[in-house]
Amino acid sequence: MLKEGFLYYSLKDYLKEKYGKRVQKITVSLPFTCPNIDGTKAFGGCTYCFSGTRPAHLNPSVPLRDQIEEGIQRAKQRYGRNILFFVYYQSYSNTYGDREYLKSIYDTALEFEEVVGIDVGTRPDCAPEWVLELLESYANMGLEVWIEYGLQSANFKTLKFINRAHGVSDFVDAVLRTKKRNLRVCAHIILGLPFEDREDMLETGKLLSALPIDGVKIHPLHIIKGTKMAQQYLNGEFEVLSLEEYAERAVDIIEILPPNMVIHRLTGEVEEDRLIAPDYCTYKKKGEVLQAIQRELEKRGSYQGCKSAFVR
Ligand code: SF4
Repeated sequence: MLKEGFLYYSLKDYLKEKYGKRVQKITVSLPFTCPNIDGTKAFGGCTYCFSGTRPAHLNPSVPLRDQIEEGIQRAKQRYGRNILFFVYYQSYSNTYGDREYLKSIYDTALEFEEVVGIDVGTRPDCAPEWVLELLESYANMGLEVWIEYGLQSANFKTLKFINRAHGVSDFVDAVLRTKKRNLRVCAHIILGLPFEDREDMLETGKLLSALPIDGVKIHPLHIIKGTKMAQQYLNGEFEVLSLEEYAERAVDIIEILPPNMVIHRLTGEVEEDRLIAPDYCTYKKKGEVLQAIQRELEKRGSYQGCKSAFVR
């Protein structure tokens, strides 16, 4: 829950509160694809997607155990030994496989004593009951299990334009079914999508507030080289948000989210040589983005939930 003196409820604060120490996510990458790429739902993927949003330093051909082991060692060197871990299955759709394969990759997390949770990124149309049942089995064994669903926007026309190949209803359905189980849900949204105005973005935030969602990742739209969206952007079809505009829109959303919804992320970044725009979406400038959001919250005298429309 948002504590006195804090302006939003970050994942870091939530994990510290729950586990009493630092909890670090180890991001791993596996040879998944996505139904929006392989033709099951559509071809080509979301127009902003490059390599399933996999960070360049991750290599899906490295065995999963080695990726986890390396991540643990790196974090311990940086933060000391008194630390716990989540394994974050990040790129592409990490529930898009057969039962045996999915079980084997989630089981691998159980081999590491200091791993207390798993975090599985996927699409809302990739969560059949058997997947949720499998994921819940890890929660019943004592792991904290988050499932991250990309929504990106509550505007169906935007979803069509960016070729998400699922609807808002798929997202609502996945959230409601997931929350019948011992699982936690994190939703991803993007601010600054083509042709969206402030009201569109607020509507997306309101939808999240109205649903039993536990956490959110808010990203600024960023244009990556080699994507379809890069061509549209370079043709001048739309603009991206300036840093100040992004901070304003992010604060609009923070103000309406319930105070107990964990904010997992407020930034989005790629390597400088892969980025076209905006220039603040790099690892180097992540701190500047967080500072701009903090300044905007302070300027308005606002905080998470101060305009929350729904009581949960
Ligand atoms: S759903 Fe994710 S992995 Fe699939 S195309 Fe869209 S962004 Fe890429």
